[in-house]
Amino acid sequence: MAQNSSRAAGRHFLQIPGPTPVPDRILRAIDRPVIDHRGPEFSKMAKKALEGIKTIFKTTNPVIIFTATGTGAWEAALTNTLSPGDKVLMVETGQFATLWKKMAERLGLKPEFIPGDWRSGADPAAIEARLREDKAHEIKAVCVLHNETSTGCASDIAAIRKAIDAAGHPALYMVDTISSLASTDYRHDEWGVDVAVGGAQKGLMLPPGMSFNALSEKSIAASKTSKLPKSFFAWDDMLNMNKVGFFPYTPATLMLGGLVEGIEMLHEEGLDNVFARHDRLGEAVRRAVKHWGLEMLCRDPKYYSSTVTAIFLPEGHDADAFRALALETFNISYGASFGPFAGKYFRIGHLGDTNDATIIGALAATEMALSLAGVPHKKGGVQAAMDYFITAHSAPARAAAE
Ligand code: PLP
Repeated sequence: MAQNSSRAAGRHFLQIPGPTPVPDRILRAIDRPVIDHRGPEFSKMAKKALEGIKTIFKTTNPVIIFTATGTGAWEAALTNTLSPGDKVLMVETGQFATLWKKMAERLGLKPEFIPGDWRSGADPAAIEARLREDKAHEIKAVCVLHNETSTGCASDIAAIRKAIDAAGHPALYMVDTISSLASTDYRHDEWGVDVAVGGAQKGLMLPPGMSFNALSEKSIAASKTSKLPKSFFAWDDMLNMNKVGFFPYTPATLMLGGLVEGIEMLHEEGLDNVFARHDRLGEAVRRAVKHWGLEMLCRDPKYYSSTVTAIFLPEGHDADAFRALALETFNISYGASFGPFAGKYFRIGHLGDTNDATIIGALAATEMALSLAGVPHKKGGVQAAMDYFITAHSAPARAAAE
């Protein structure tokens, strides 16, 4: 931003890993007169949203839509299925896994953390080993994050399902898909997930304030005997009212219109194309980072996230000061850093309604900010990303993908 100016010209580069930029089509879908949430127009729209969101989770089971952020859907997943004192197995992948564990403690559960160093995804073998030890089946749920937004490490949800099955353990399987859903492939039914937690403000391209629980027959059965208190988040009232296209209380009517539009946009692009786009954007960002000679938080390629990349600054360089400088100078926002590495890294989000050219712009701003901040790096990271995009879009690469 120019000195002595209160306005930054041009578009803000919102490169945080969610909330993501809301496309005009969704803004227009939301920008309409409020309708009666007990009327026929509403129920038609709600049924469309409730059916549509199932196609995004890839499930034929009900998906519950909450007027709450993702944190609310975390709480709903736990309180609807578990009872006081139940053991839950969680994996320390980063900040959000840690917050979910803290929530479990507050709710009166007994979470057990498989320790992690915040630099990888969840290890299916470690989960299997712990479940095999639990001969009395005291562990009632395994909770993992598909994508740990705070570190840029993703976990293999299908492999963890296999690990639970290999251990012959009956625990419920709960998966946080908040920063993966509608950006990377997620298959609720096929991967045997019992409760998926989702959020509106990332791959679904909506503003924050809406979240989801995708269910299974097993989790619905568990909800009938679960004893943790729940009221606002109770599934039973929701399931009953949703059958006729209504909610037990006033839902976010206009946001539901936005959700219908967002789902339509995702299917127009084609989910597989959406996933391929995110894979491509993630790879381009990593090519730039590697060229710059900077280190990524996620240290093993098998855990690389297609939606967010966390990048260390070298010793002696403050990542928060770097973010502030980039915002001030180039009008770009990055994700902050957490936990053991607070102040040491920044995150580039590459998810939602974004494309190759936007990512090149973001990488160019980043490369300029690195120079201005005096961070040692090899120039040409943007070129490396561009070269990758050119190759990815070249005729042979396209033919191979078809
Ligand atoms: N889980 C993950 C993976 C997240 O990225 C976030 C937020 O970014 C949350 C949970 C919490 O969601 P919310 O901030 O919408 O409550």
